Amino acid sequence: MPGEFDIIKAYFSDKQGGRKDVCLNIGDDCAIVSAPDRARIAITTDTLVEGTHFLPDTNPAWIAHKALVSNISDLTAMGATPAWCSLALTLPDMDEAWVASFSNAFFALADYYNVHLIGGDTTKGPLSITITIQGFVPHDRAMQRNGAKVGDWIYVTGLLGNSQAGLDVILDPKLDGSPHSQYLKEQHFLSTPRVLAGQALVNIASSAIDISDGLVADLRHVLAASNVGAKIHLESLPVSAELVSFLHGDQEKAYQYALTSGEEYELCFTIPDYSRIALENAMTYTGTKYTCIGQIQSGSDISLYLNGQKTEWNLLGYDHFLRTE
Ligand code: ADP
Ligand code: MG
Repeated sequence: MPGEFDIIKAYFSDKQGGRKDVCLNIGDDCAIVSAPDRARIAITTDTLVEGTHFLPDTNPAWIAHKALVSNISDLTAMGATPAWCSLALTLPDMDEAWVASFSNAFFALADYYNVHLIGGDTTKGPLSITITIQGFVPHDRAMQRNGAKVGDWIYVTGLLGNSQAGLDVILDPKLDGSPHSQYLKEQHFLSTPRVLAGQALVNIASSAIDISDGLVADLRHVLAASNVGAKIHLESLPVSAELVSFLHGDQEKAYQYALTSGEEYELCFTIPDYSRIALENAMTYTGTKYTCIGQIQSGSDISLYLNGQKTEWNLLGYDHFLRTE
């Protein structure tokens, strides 16, 4: 069985080139990098643990993708440009086939976004993956959670709800034969971080967050930090035809999925009314789908409207959704 250093050498060192700001790469006690003048560095970490974030025997390529996306997505929510990352990998055994598949998928995504792996740690133990990533944000321009103002419009990127439906299929193999089950499963693991959209929003959005715990749970963080409430129009929520079909045509259930689905890695952001045209211009160049779903209002929580009527749906959190009638 290969040792730790064989694994690092074969699957993690010298796999990338092309970033001149990496002064000292994998192989020494630390990596050394050089930041552009006047840039601020945004830094974030995320961990995936087997049994908590994915089931045993999950495709290692999917795990690699999800681990990196969850990190890139946090940078994206600040409008940061990803630059470097490190990878702490804890493996139950040095299974080369597993590491090879993980490494291929990891570098495919890292290369796409020009994120350079500059170091890490490889240890033996229960399977877990921790990535720390750094990116650049222009001085004083990072989007934060505390800038939403009454009257701002609330937007999301992409489609909502697919990730939860994919998780349903993963947790209950009986659903595997349902319409679009494979597509939804892949959507759960293979989401797209909204890097270009995040950069485009830097001078326009009053607040932003990435949807990792579900739209309601994450929007509530913005509302709490900004001291405001929100109104959401359910029929505006961008749900896929595949999701509605998976839910046997139940449109309202699709809206519930959109509100609570975690690990979407889409952005939720707010835009002052005077910046809506600027938003259209900026987003056109990114090619990213985006949808206005409601408006910031005074108060402290989220009101849901369906066809102009306030609903009494009771939002209890991302994994408990109860509807009271
Ligand atoms: P140290 O004992 O100084 O912590 P290690 O023996 O853990 O160093 O690692 C040797 C080198 O390999 C270091 O440069 C470290 O950053 C890098 N490294 C270890 N594991 C990984 C990994 N999974 N991915 C990328 N680089 C790694
Ligand atoms: Mg070490």
